[in-house]
Amino acid sequence: MFVGHYGVAFAVRSERNQIPLWVLFVAVQLLDFLWAPFVLLGIEKVRMVPGITATNSLDLYYMPYTHSLVGALIWSGTAFFIYKLVRGAKTSNTAALIVAFAVFSHWVLDLIVHRPDLAIYDDVLKIGFGLWNHRGLEFGFEIAILVGGILIYLKRNSSIARKAGIVAFGVVLILIQVWNTFAGRRPTSDRTFAITALIFYTLFAGIAFLLEKRSKLATGRVRPIVEPD
Ligand SMILES: [Zn+2]
Repeated sequence: MFVGHYGVAFAVRSERNQIPLWVLFVAVQLLDFLWAPFVLLGIEKVRMVPGITATNSLDLYYMPYTHSLVGALIWSGTAFFIYKLVRGAKTSNTAALIVAFAVFSHWVLDLIVHRPDLAIYDDVLKIGFGLWNHRGLEFGFEIAILVGGILIYLKRNSSIARKAGIVAFGVVLILIQVWNTFAGRRPTSDRTFAITALIFYTLFAGIAFLLEKRSKLATGRVRPIVEPD
């Protein structure tokens, strides 16, 4: 699962909860944001086995800290507290819960597409429904979540001025997924894969930040004060 995760980020953002889109972009990929440095440090392991699934060659044989069910729940809880702490009085428990849910959604979506490489706890009881073995279906699934999420975002955030920017970003994400699923050169090493993932995830979160910043500038954050006569 790659761009599909962002469908959740778009879908849960609303004018009411005021969670910045870039925060949700980090949240839905938090497990992978942690996984990449863990792989680079040798704490978690992946190796490339061509043909292991129809979509990619990832043999994710050891990732108990980021991608076990228990691990995912702990990181989701941590995200709840960090969000509360950083946003302070400006935020509600509901908003922090939504951030935690966004973090956990990563595991649920990974569960659908991964081979049985997601442990329940530590490195045991591994599950995964293996949609990666059905390239077209998996692609359709990712795009459906992403497009659905963007449509919900546009509906729930109607004051966002830069609708065209969001739509263009969505198109770019779809094209990246097309390239990733059908045309991309397969990474040859675990390190290349981890570094590439980090770069893309950071870039996407940065774009999400800029899009909403530009929107706020365009609409004006502060409502004009009408002077009484
Ligand atoms: Zn993942």
